[in-house]
Amino acid sequence: MKTSKKGVNTICTHVGELKDKEFKGTVSPLYMSTSYEFEDVDVKRYPRYFNTPNQEALGKKLAALENTEAAMIFGSGMAAISTALMAFLQAGDHIVFQQTLYGGTYNFAVTQLEKYGISFSFTDGWSVADFEKEIRSNTKIIFIETPSNPLLTITDLKGIARLAKSHGLLTMIDNTFASPINQNPGNFGIDVVLHSATKYMGGHSDICAGVIATSKENMEKVYQTAICFGGSLSDYTVWLLERSIKTMGIRVKAQNENALKMAKYLSKSDDVENVYYPGLETHPDHDVAKSQMKGFGGMLSFELNPNIDASHFFKHLKLIKPSMSLAGIESTVLSPTKTSHALMSPEDREKQGIKDSLIRFSLGIEEMDDLVQDIEQAINQVKSMEVPV
Ligand code: PLP
Repeated sequence: MKTSKKGVNTICTHVGELKDKEFKGTVSPLYMSTSYEFEDVDVKRYPRYFNTPNQEALGKKLAALENTEAAMIFGSGMAAISTALMAFLQAGDHIVFQQTLYGGTYNFAVTQLEKYGISFSFTDGWSVADFEKEIRSNTKIIFIETPSNPLLTITDLKGIARLAKSHGLLTMIDNTFASPINQNPGNFGIDVVLHSATKYMGGHSDICAGVIATSKENMEKVYQTAICFGGSLSDYTVWLLERSIKTMGIRVKAQNENALKMAKYLSKSDDVENVYYPGLETHPDHDVAKSQMKGFGGMLSFELNPNIDASHFFKHLKLIKPSMSLAGIESTVLSPTKTSHALMSPEDREKQGIKDSLIRFSLGIEEMDDLVQDIEQAINQVKSMEVPV
C-alpha cells in the first residue's frame, strides 16, 4: 500500500493538478478534446479509454485520497459498482453481499447477475460471522457497505479483510457514506474501494460520477472491463468534480460536526423513536466505527413517534429539503421506502429493518440552530393538525 505523505486538505487542493504551461493559470486547464494524435505518442488518448488529461489527473487525486495505487472515474456510482463487479466475476462464480446495502446495488444483484450465470447470497446481518456463513467453494467476492445506506450499520473492515484473505477472496466496499475523508478501507486491507462521487465528492448536488480505487494490478482488470462497458465521465464534469473535491475535507468536517450534534439532539427529543448514527455511544457498533473511521459522517436516520406522520413532516419543512440523493452542502431528508430502496420488495425492506416511517437525514453545512428550529416547527405543525380522539 502506498503511503501518502501530504495532509488530506493538501491532497484535496493540489494532488493531480494539471499545469497550465501556456498561460500559467492557477487551476487545471480543461481538455475537452475527444480526439488525440495517434502517431508518435506514448499514450493513445480517448475519453472512453479513461485516459484524457483531466481523467488521468483526477484519478491521481482520488488514489491519493484513498491511499491506493490507482483510481478511475466513472459516469455514476452504479457505473463504477457494476464495472467493478463484472471485472472480477464470471459464470459459475458466487458473491456474498452485505444484507444492508444501497438499493441500486441490491437491484443490480437481483436483476442482472443471474443472466451471466453468477450466483449471490445476502448475509443475515453484518457481523464477520454472518459473512463467513455465506462463503461457498465458488465464492469470489465479499461486498460490504459501511456505514450502510440507510441504517448506518457498521461492518468491521479488518475482520472482513482477514476473513476474505483466509479464503482467498477479493473484498469490495461501497465507501460512499463515509467519503475518503472519514474512512480509507484500503488501510484496513479491503481490496477495491467504490464511491458514488455524486455524493460527498461532488458535494453540491450537481454532479453525477463514480470512483473505483484499488491496486494497479486490480485496476488493470477493471480497465479491460471498463473500456467495454464505456461508463466514462465527460471531461467537463471531471473538471467540475476536481474543483468540488478541493473543498471536500472542510465540507465533510462541517457535515460530520452537524450530524453528531443533530443525532444527539434527536435522541433527546420526545418526538423521536429511534436514531441511527455511528457517532452515538448508544450505536451497537460505535467502538468498531471509532476504530476505523476518522469522523462518523454526515448521514443519520431516524424514526418519528408513530403519531407523527413522516410525509406531513416533510411537507412542513421550510429549510431542510425533502429531496433525493444526499451529501450536498444543503441538508436534505428522504424516505428510503419511496426513493433509494423503492425497488426492494416490502418483505426485503422489512428484513433489513427499513420501516416505512424511516427518515434518512443528510446533514449540510448550515447552522445547527436553524436546522433544529426547522425540525421543531415542522413537528409542531404536524402535531397541530392531528385530530384529537
Ligand atoms: N452507493 C450508495 C451508498 C449510494 O447512496 C448511491 C446513490 O444514492 C450509489 C451507490 C449509486 O450512485 P449513483 O447514483 O451515483 O450511481
